[in-house]
Amino acid sequence: MQLKGIAAASGYAIGPAFIMQEQTTVVERKQIAAADVDAEATRLQQAVNQAMAELEQIKEDTAAKLGEHHAEIFATHILVLQDEEFIGQAIEKVRSEAVNAEFALQEVTQQLIDIFTSMDNEYMRERASDFRDVSQRVLSVLTGKRNASLSDFHEAVVLFAHDLTPSDTATLDRSKVAGFATNIGGRTSHSAIMARSMEIPAVVGLQSATETVKDGDMIILDGAKGIILVNPDAETLSTYEQMKAKFEKRQEEMKLYKEKPSITADGHEVELVANIGNPQDALGARNNGAEGVGLFRTEFLYMGRDSFPTEEEQYHSYSTVVETLGADKPVVIRTLDIGGDKELPYLELPKEMNPFLGYRAIRICLDRKDLFKTQLRAILRASAHGNIKLMYPMISTLAELRAANEILKETQAELDAEGIAYNKNMEVGMMIEVPAAAIIADQLAKEVDFFSIGTNDLVQYTMAADRMNEKVSHLTQPFNPAVLRLIRMVIDAAHKEGKWAGMCGEMAGNLTAIPVLLGLGLDEFSMSASSVLPARVLINRLNRDELKQLAEEALMMEHEEDIQRLVHERVPAVQELML
Ligand code: PEP
Ligand code: MG
Repeated sequence: MQLKGIAAASGYAIGPAFIMQEQTTVVERKQIAAADVDAEATRLQQAVNQAMAELEQIKEDTAAKLGEHHAEIFATHILVLQDEEFIGQAIEKVRSEAVNAEFALQEVTQQLIDIFTSMDNEYMRERASDFRDVSQRVLSVLTGKRNASLSDFHEAVVLFAHDLTPSDTATLDRSKVAGFATNIGGRTSHSAIMARSMEIPAVVGLQSATETVKDGDMIILDGAKGIILVNPDAETLSTYEQMKAKFEKRQEEMKLYKEKPSITADGHEVELVANIGNPQDALGARNNGAEGVGLFRTEFLYMGRDSFPTEEEQYHSYSTVVETLGADKPVVIRTLDIGGDKELPYLELPKEMNPFLGYRAIRICLDRKDLFKTQLRAILRASAHGNIKLMYPMISTLAELRAANEILKETQAELDAEGIAYNKNMEVGMMIEVPAAAIIADQLAKEVDFFSIGTNDLVQYTMAADRMNEKVSHLTQPFNPAVLRLIRMVIDAAHKEGKWAGMCGEMAGNLTAIPVLLGLGLDEFSMSASSVLPARVLINRLNRDELKQLAEEALMMEHEEDIQRLVHERVPAVQELML
């Protein structure tokens, strides 16, 4: 049997299933004798104190193991336990109704959960789970029923749970848990983010796995594909055991490259950076050896909520990335790139016939100066703390670039007038996603500090093939000579003006593309964090001067398959590193 969920953390886990029963201890109401009410209230307070001490310990351990950022959630939980409206009310209930501590706590928790879950704001709705989590901890102290123990197992299990709270995840014993699977959650839920940092293979969003799978079933969990195989046959098991061994060997090898420079065998250094979608991803980028961030897709800060993020919220997000990575690390922040396949319901844009050719990204920002300026102010303010670079998406004309720069100048003047600090030498660049921009790259290069080639869009516009339409996906050809020639034009135009050229589309992390891009002289490669180390291993083995010849030949070929074949023949390391 195979179950399909959401890939949360890559790697393979093989072992017996252990189903973690949901701890929904429903407690009975008990009347307390008047003389014992004080003692009952004290019992509740003591349980709260113990829960806080436990959380303090988990917070410290998590900060040491995974970094301060992951520990923040436990600081929040401690604050929840200090909240008068919460524990104060429960103690009050013990006294006024002369009821047992467990019942009073359960009642007050449920009332708060009901209030939070009925709110419109998603952020507030999520707060309900904080109350549930901390209340469960206090209840388990009161009742003495602690979490199901994994210590009885002699081999590591694959843990199945309806959901794992952040504290469950942070305290998982790596020697007892080979991987975990949950019914709910997405790629960006807390437990998924932590699993990636802790390198525990995980699949989430399996819906009813805890009911389908039974304790002791033999499990293969494939965290990269997001699948679970239940009681596989011997042949499948042996195939996966080999894949697991290969994966783990490669992971170990990769780790040796975490601190190494991204330098070719003949001494050319390039920059290997990561693409991120929210501040939390910065830690994953750092843990995977990225030298910084080459693309922060800020639109994700605007999505999944019902109003625009404020200047303060954005300032906090951008500063967090700088803090996580260090002030010297480059962080390229792309301004809002909404539209196309990324919708923002509260912006109330009319439906369009061709959203990818429509009102999107910089086109909206130039029109909605209010939104644009709020974001620019936040980015500028954060630039005072580190090596932030600003980048505009979807520029098609010189006029758009100039208009964006004009608004930037206005915003800088406002900050000057208000005496607010920012980095006056912040680099300002643009993405090359539109063929028109690639063709006039020589003109644009004079007015920017850098280019970053967005091949995801550049390919769809060059080939006139919608990146979301499966029917034309055969035309999504990053290796097509037409695309490669545009890439060469962009890199050459940047270099001619003494500027640098990077790439942040998916192509930058493609092992087959890297030798060609190096040969064309690309300076910066920005990719998903998990691609950074394989890319560095490859780059360390390559000789750039030899690749110039390879790139020239590639540009003259007729089909993208020929180009890929050429790379595989000339650079065997590419296929060795592909899993
Ligand atoms: C791109 O178009 O290549 C790019 C990096 O931007 P996005 O994928 O966010 O459109
Ligand atoms: Mg794009």
